[in-house]
Amino acid sequence: MSDKPTNDALEFEKILNALDCGVVKIIFTDKDHRTVQWANDGFFRLTGSTREDYADAERSGNPRNVLHPDDFEWVFKAFADHVETREPLDIVYRVFHKDGHIVWLHVTSSVIGIEDGNPVFINVMTDITEHKNLQLRLQWEQERDRIISSLSNEIIFEYRCDEDVMLHFGRYYEVLGDRAMIKHYHHFLRNEGVIHPDDVHVLESLLDPQELERHSLTGYAADANAEEAALLRLRASDEADTGAATATKDKDTASVEPKAAVDSELVSREIKEIWHQFHDSMQHNTESNVLLLEKIPRFRLRLLSGEYQWYWAVCTTVVDFTGQKVILGKIVNSHEAMTTIERLKERSETDSLTSLLNRGAGEQAVIQCLNDNSVSWILMVIDIDDFKQVNDTYGHSRGDAAIKSLGDCLRKICRSTDVVARLGGDEFLVLLRGSFSPDSSRKIAYSFWNRLQQKLKEHTAALGFSFTLSAGVAISSQHGVVYAVLFDCADAALYTSKRAGRNRLTVAP
Ligand code: GH3
Ligand code: MG
Repeated sequence: MSDKPTNDALEFEKILNALDCGVVKIIFTDKDHRTVQWANDGFFRLTGSTREDYADAERSGNPRNVLHPDDFEWVFKAFADHVETREPLDIVYRVFHKDGHIVWLHVTSSVIGIEDGNPVFINVMTDITEHKNLQLRLQWEQERDRIISSLSNEIIFEYRCDEDVMLHFGRYYEVLGDRAMIKHYHHFLRNEGVIHPDDVHVLESLLDPQELERHSLTGYAADANAEEAALLRLRASDEADTGAATATKDKDTASVEPKAAVDSELVSREIKEIWHQFHDSMQHNTESNVLLLEKIPRFRLRLLSGEYQWYWAVCTTVVDFTGQKVILGKIVNSHEAMTTIERLKERSETDSLTSLLNRGAGEQAVIQCLNDNSVSWILMVIDIDDFKQVNDTYGHSRGDAAIKSLGDCLRKICRSTDVVARLGGDEFLVLLRGSFSPDSSRKIAYSFWNRLQQKLKEHTAALGFSFTLSAGVAISSQHGVVYAVLFDCADAALYTSKRAGRNRLTVAP
């Protein structure tokens, strides 16, 4: 900082001083010594010092060292290499501002010549603290998200629609190993077997932004699988109990559904608990784009162990900073809950003595069949004759064996498309496919009745005592398809059989 400047140099100095960056000319006297020959005002502003501060420090032989201690060593080495190799230097390091805060500097340096045998270089220094802090914050937020998602049980995903790239975070390892990023995701869906082949379509429509938006408005219409149906019915039962039922199906269904879904108090309570857990876990997702709870898409994923387990997903579409559509969501393992619900559902629909459908589930199944009016149906109600006497004579447990035995007979002579249920006590219900002519339906009913008598003979031989049956029949092509009406006709016909002396079948007139 010595030579007397010319007018041109003064003009140039003015320009340099007006710049919003530091410009400094340094002479490199030896490995550990370098001296600032000239610096613009911007150089001093970077650390909040004045020229006077700097001059005082130099005069006292005690220059304030502003370089961050963690950067000291490598920065000095970088400059030494720079001077030796004469390659341009481009680095970022930290210095301390006069008030103590850290300033991030972006520094470029070029060696411009030799003076008195020593290399001279020019540094241009820019304060990038704001930019650097943003970058550090972003890194921190990514790290924070990684830590939080590793603590949760969920697989978080980001699907980049235009690129067909899937990114996973959180607990994806047990399903995907180290495949955090999957390119050509649609190809992966169809070809890797990670998603159960029957469920690929569920994920495909989930990852179609247009589908997603459409379903967000109208509700996601995933194919009804057993679990879905169970949840829907549980929901109906729940709503009925809380007085919020708004059943919109046909009136038969509406009247029977709540009762059909839950048979016993205990099972009902257990199921509801699980249902509420589901419900609670979904409550946080209140954004309008989040799929409706009862329509949650469900699919099976193959674990690394090879086993498929049920998962469900919720997601939403967003547009990222590049303008690309992105689907963000979470995939949650629901296997335990789903299998428990399945088990409870089965228990709530099964008669424990005969393992046939119980009354509620039987009625439900019949109603579903009656919806199919491409065929005619035969509804038969069967009751054991004088069963009280059987109990009185042979004891309650042999009475049980008789009920079980009749259940076995019915199961054996019915086809898989027929419905067989124990209505309760010694009363059973059978629904058979009939014919559109009531006459031939009647014939089918009598033929079934004869087969039942035959089968019963074989079974009662094993039981060690015999009993007879009475039955009443109604036919949908004659008595209509409304379950309650059809049942009343069959029931009335059963009482006709009883009144007429039992051990017979009556077809309702
Ligand atoms: P009916 O010919 O008129 O049908 O006479 P019934 O004696 O069979 O009378 P009803 O069908 O009205 O009564 C059925 C009896 O079955 C009543 C009850 O004691 C008995 N019962 C109901 N459930 C069970 C059961 O689970 N096990 C046994 N062993 N008996 C049962
Ligand atoms: Mg009876």
